[in-house]
Amino acid sequence: MSHIPLAPHGKSPRKVIPIAPVPAAGSLYEAQVKIQARSMRGVFANWRWALVWATQLFFYVIPWLQWNGRQMLLFDLEQRRFYLFELLLFPQDFIYLTALLIIAALSLFLFTAVAGRLWCGFACPQTVYTEIFMWIEHRVEGDRSARLRLDASPWSKEKLRKKFLKQLLWLAVALWTGFTFVGYFVPIRTLAVEVMALQGGWQIFWVLFYGFATYGNAGFLREQICKYMCPYARFQSAMFDQDTLIVTYDAVRGEMRGPRTKAVDAKVQGLGDCIDCTLCVQVCPVGIDIREGLQYECIGCGLCVDACNSVMDKMQYPRGLIRYTTPNALAQRWSLRQVLRRVARPRVLLYSAALLALTGAMVSSLVLRTPLKVDVIRDRSVLARLVEGGQIENVYRLQIANATETPQRYRLVASGLEGLHVASDTEVDVAAAESRWVVVRLRVPAGVVAAVGSHPVGLEISATGDTAVQLREKTTFLMPR
Ligand code: SF4
Ligand code: SF4
Repeated sequence: MSHIPLAPHGKSPRKVIPIAPVPAAGSLYEAQVKIQARSMRGVFANWRWALVWATQLFFYVIPWLQWNGRQMLLFDLEQRRFYLFELLLFPQDFIYLTALLIIAALSLFLFTAVAGRLWCGFACPQTVYTEIFMWIEHRVEGDRSARLRLDASPWSKEKLRKKFLKQLLWLAVALWTGFTFVGYFVPIRTLAVEVMALQGGWQIFWVLFYGFATYGNAGFLREQICKYMCPYARFQSAMFDQDTLIVTYDAVRGEMRGPRTKAVDAKVQGLGDCIDCTLCVQVCPVGIDIREGLQYECIGCGLCVDACNSVMDKMQYPRGLIRYTTPNALAQRWSLRQVLRRVARPRVLLYSAALLALTGAMVSSLVLRTPLKVDVIRDRSVLARLVEGGQIENVYRLQIANATETPQRYRLVASGLEGLHVASDTEVDVAAAESRWVVVRLRVPAGVVAAVGSHPVGLEISATGDTAVQLREKTTFLMPR
């Protein structure tokens, strides 16, 4: 597996843009300097905002939507019921969650192999909430230079007002986010009433917990989460190869970098296309200089591409000095068509095939799934006994879960031994979305089964109103000596 070497940040022999002070000799920790990123417009910035809108509309609106008279999407942990549109899942359906996690992991591998850290740059909650918090900061405190001036200025009424307003808005967004998040696990309308009435201690605790986590992560920790806490940044290079699309600086075209005037031909001065304006560094939300090569801090947001393209436009140079391309394409000066041709390579095809197979299997399993769950447990206290008329009786405990949202009556039929029948109630009522334990007694007439020991038998459970809903559970019937 080929890896792309990550450039050691800050070790370029060229001029280094000061981002953070050099740590004192002997210190194991780098002093942290707040990154005041400049806001940027452009193709990638627009995509980032489109993703912010799409993910947040989904996140904030979905828990309020109703389906069949209940919340459309609800992971009701207290009742152990999971409602997904028409589906009602029980903890026994845990396999679907496992499949979903594997699909998510495979998707991440696939997208990363093709197009680098797309997830990090555009859809990760850390990125999305940081973007929202930075937007609030921008609206309240002004653009980058205004914020830098404000931070450097002594405390005044105006500074206090701006800082207070910003924190207030951050807190409001954070608490609303915490409330919405908890609303996926507790019915959100009930939660709203409880929170307003200051009831439901645990619910309020979790709202505050997730609210403050959002506040801290998006307001203060920001890129620190990506740099030091997120494991994904650390193993991403194992998923990259020389044909992975990444945000790259074209050093062949850009160097020798340096300022110039339009009056003087840069080529004559031996200058490349990079005018060393540092705009690409100023817009970077993680505060790195992409001209030093691929660094693990880079989340692939593409803002430096937008920034540099705007500079190239002003200079009337071709766009793409910083661009989204592959290391192979950069080294061999490939066209876009050549780059796209390398997308369908073995590892991408392998990930795609596995993803398609697993997604197909999960969807068909969900579609064909019987809305009924049954568990049979032998009653250990009564293995087998002789009852009236010389019949042999075995006792079982049956858990029947009705995975529909209407009450159901289920019929029980035993099979597998001559004369085997259900001696207890043959019909069981189970309320909507409920599970119920029932005791089931199976009997065989005297003298029909001669062989002692364990005999495999079956128990068919079917819904009386819908014969398509039926299951057969295997168990054993013991004949005593
Ligand atoms: S924005 Fe472009 S021109 Fe300006 S420093 Fe960055 S790479 Fe060079
Ligand atoms: S280097 Fe460019 S793509 Fe990477 S995080 Fe910074 S702005 Fe985003």
